[in-house]
Amino acid sequence: MKRVKKIEKGLLDFIINAAKSSHPNEFAGVLRSEKDRISEVMVLPGTYSSERSAVMKLHTLPIASNACGSVHSHSSKRAKPSEADLNLFNKLGHVHIIIASPYNENSWSAYDKSGTEINLEVVEIESRRSLDKKFREDFPDEFFEC
Ligand code: ZN
Repeated sequence: MKRVKKIEKGLLDFIINAAKSSHPNEFAGVLRSEKDRISEVMVLPGTYSSERSAVMKLHTLPIASNACGSVHSHSSKRAKPSEADLNLFNKLGHVHIIIASPYNENSWSAYDKSGTEINLEVVEIESRRSLDKKFREDFPDEFFEC
């Protein structure tokens, strides 16, 4: 599996909004990737969330889900993984996002399996429909395969 190094801007906005609307409870989901970027958040059925934690029922994760990691929110201002978070990181994929209060573009961090902070580049991805010809010519063909 290709290493995930990017996250779509629109998805980050979605995560920010989901975290805000879950507050004071935590929001949790599974990240899916396309190529080297995180493209989707899947909220698993039966996800339990409270002010202290969000517990995902990983056995409900569909096979072939392209799951590459997890995302969850912290209602505190600390975007650092707890012991329980590290346990989850270990079970699921290799990129994990924690977004802390006040839930904005500067209050999140990404970690690898072991809880070491990693860099995720935020990228703008236009939908195919909104691409005009000029935009197409500006990018290599490979860009459109996904
Ligand atoms: Zn946590």
